Amino acid sequence: MAEPSAPSQSAEDYLERIYELIKEKGYARAVDIASTLQVKQASVTGMVQKLGELGYLNYEKYHGLILTEKGRQVASAIQKRHATLTRFFSLFGLPPETQQRDIEGIEHHLSPATVDVLADLAGFLEKNPEILEQFRKIRQGGKR
Ligand code: ZN
Repeated sequence: MAEPSAPSQSAEDYLERIYELIKEKGYARAVDIASTLQVKQASVTGMVQKLGELGYLNYEKYHGLILTEKGRQVASAIQKRHATLTRFFSLFGLPPETQQRDIEGIEHHLSPATVDVLADLAGFLEKNPEILEQFRKIRQGGKR
């Protein structure tokens, strides 16, 4: 269970996207958030207001959306988890678009303990490429 103060899954999506937009462009506009999350601008307005009330971001007249320290910390943890999942799923030769879509689908549902296991498993397979190779061969064999 998430703590009461932890952001909801959809709030996490917004924080992740806002963080990425600010990193990429230096600012996050409602129109960009709406298009990357494929939601209506009215939904963005509502969520941005809620995230503001929860202390994750502020709206500044000339700068637009600014993540607070708390918002930055949460967003960077979300991004780190995304990176861990990318590292894990990229080991198996799946198409990048499939990986990206599936990671976006599951990432907010995983507990830190599970993400930790996947990080360790990724590290283990990276250090033991012969085991990964064996696994790949067995899988291919099974498909024939
Ligand atoms: Zn993500």
